[in-house]
Amino acid sequence: MSGREQHFIQNAFDTNWVAPLGPNVDAFEKDLKTFLGNSVYVEAVVSGTAALHLGLILLGVEADDEVLCQSFTFSASANPIRYQGATPVFVDSEPDTWNMSPEYLEEAIRDRIKKGKKPKAIIPVYLYGMPAKMDEIRAIANRYEISILEDAAEALGSAYKGVPCGTFGELAALSFNGNKIITTSGGGALLAKSEENIRKAHFLATQARDAAPHYQHSEIGYNYRMSNIVAGIGRGQMEVLPLRIEQRRKNNQYYRKHLSAIEGLTFQTEPSNDFFSNYWLTSIIIDPEKTGGVKREDVHLAMEEANIESRPLWKPMHLQPVFSSCPYYGEKVSESLFDNGLCLPSGSVLMEDDLSRVVKVIKSLFR
Ligand SMILES: *Cc1c(COP(=O)(O)O)cnc(C)c1O
Repeated sequence: MSGREQHFIQNAFDTNWVAPLGPNVDAFEKDLKTFLGNSVYVEAVVSGTAALHLGLILLGVEADDEVLCQSFTFSASANPIRYQGATPVFVDSEPDTWNMSPEYLEEAIRDRIKKGKKPKAIIPVYLYGMPAKMDEIRAIANRYEISILEDAAEALGSAYKGVPCGTFGELAALSFNGNKIITTSGGGALLAKSEENIRKAHFLATQARDAAPHYQHSEIGYNYRMSNIVAGIGRGQMEVLPLRIEQRRKNNQYYRKHLSAIEGLTFQTEPSNDFFSNYWLTSIIIDPEKTGGVKREDVHLAMEEANIESRPLWKPMHLQPVFSSCPYYGEKVSESLFDNGLCLPSGSVLMEDDLSRVVKVIKSLFR
């Protein structure tokens, strides 16, 4: 926390704005809009998952539709597709960014159209903060006239060619869950290019109340609006967002400096200066063919032994039991990343002592 969060929360109590609306919600949305260069409109909601759900509704995704979704991600990218009764069509990653492969995306679109159904939306994800190849993905989306809903839950502060992640698609979702680069304890935001979409999102997020003196409804609504208390935390967090990005990137630099020399250990890396990652999490790949047999799990267990938490990368959605019947386009890129990848401790509060302890444990496994 920055320390300023409680000031904004106190304000909410003092003015009795203890509700899912109020000055903190408005100001937090304005802060986000300003941070993102004023190129999108913002609706603060209860979670990133809720933002993705609203995004799909706005794109007209209904039962029996298909939605293209990056396979290598957290389940929250795909679950809202199911909330709508639609089917996720999973797309593999490419090895440079670990995000959606433009080649497999196009292959998937062509094949789905051939099979009789054009997908309604594309959900690219910016894993661990790394921007995807958005020029290529956007060109394909434009060619086939399919809208993009960015899952930017992990990428607040990241940019591609100087353009902030979350401002490429027609719509985008941010998350402020407890583990994200900034947090409101739980929360999210829907970003939209058009003000009309945000007006509609607001209507749906507040129970779809028609303009009438009584309670009247012509559509199904949701209770998705962010609370004014939670938004107070968000306002305090926005004051330290640039610092948080700096801290996460510094962690990443430290690990690189001390671990890059290890044969067979590589990092998720910005492919060129076009990519700017907030490096929410620093992630590594251990290639047992080059490490002389040391595997990801060896590193994971050695860390656990030293009471240091690390985590395997996301298990691809096409390998998840709950999505096993969904179509998948790709080969083994995300599978191999899952087999060999590990997220290192990456919190903003890590001190050099902590980082050096992690490095020491990893180095001890290699000669
Ligand atoms: C955290 C996360 C979400 C969901 O956000 P919540 O606020 O936890 O609902 C969605 N997608 C990705 C990639 C995430 O990391």
